[in-house]
Amino acid sequence: MDRKLIGVDLGGTTTKFAILTENGDIQQKWSIETTILDEGAHIVPNIIDSINHHIDLYKMNKSDFVGIGMGTPGTVDLDAGTVIGAYNLNWKTLQPVKKQIEAGTGIQFTLDNDANVAALGERWKGAGENGNDVVFVTLGTGVGGGVIAGGHLLHGAAGAAGEIGHVTVKPDGYMCTCGKRGCLEQYASATGVVHVARDMAEEFSGVSKLKQLLDNGEEISSKITFDLAKEGDILAQSVVDRVSFYLGLALANVGNTMNPSSIIIGGGVSAAGDFLLRQVDHYFKQNTFPTVRNTTELKLAVLGNDAGVIGAASLAQRFI
Ligand SMILES: [Zn+2]
Repeated sequence: MDRKLIGVDLGGTTTKFAILTENGDIQQKWSIETTILDEGAHIVPNIIDSINHHIDLYKMNKSDFVGIGMGTPGTVDLDAGTVIGAYNLNWKTLQPVKKQIEAGTGIQFTLDNDANVAALGERWKGAGENGNDVVFVTLGTGVGGGVIAGGHLLHGAAGAAGEIGHVTVKPDGYMCTCGKRGCLEQYASATGVVHVARDMAEEFSGVSKLKQLLDNGEEISSKITFDLAKEGDILAQSVVDRVSFYLGLALANVGNTMNPSSIIIGGGVSAAGDFLLRQVDHYFKQNTFPTVRNTTELKLAVLGNDAGVIGAASLAQRFI
């Protein structure tokens, strides 16, 4: 019988699991709530219990599995199998995750950063078409990224490779949580889009529903902004144009540096779909040199929430 892979996508509110074939086809999928109480002390025991429970439930054995791969927030030490500084999990101190999960399940375990893992997923079974050179950028509450070059996921000297969210797109621009100014994350994340909308609304004097909402003190979101832009709201269109410019500029410079076959845009903000992609592509082409312009393609992610578990499972292929 072919052996299976287990993928785990650890997030601040839910932990997703999947059992996949060695070819990356999902056979079973489930999720549990992530309990971050008591400095995250329940997270790993809950993962172990859930895996063991489902192996029993599906009448499988530990020997049916090649290994477990996991994507996690925080800073990962790949060799030691540890995580530190995952604040949305309440993990402030070093967590010996690999040691605990291998002891608790009897199955080999490996892990990587969540954005890197999503990149591996989209590359393997999604828009990346299993290419050797693929870049993934995720636009959600923050902006994350992962870079696969020459078939290898890049980690860099300190595990910070692929942090596209901190590419400077506007010198002296908005202050970022990282301490510097003008980071892409401050313009192209869900909160970044709203920040841009608020500032542009102040200087706008025409007729606009978006302006009206903001003037009335109503909560707006990146989704509302994109929906209004699609409906023809002039202010909303200007906001989307500005966000697209910053995103197109950042991705063009990633393209000029890496020349990947695909740069894949995922995450909640990318739900704006082709409407966003077309406008980002305009600025991407304007800022790439001809070879890159002709060979690097911007695409939308296709796996949605499954990118994490699929990419995580792909990590466990190293045990085959
Ligand atoms: Zn930053």
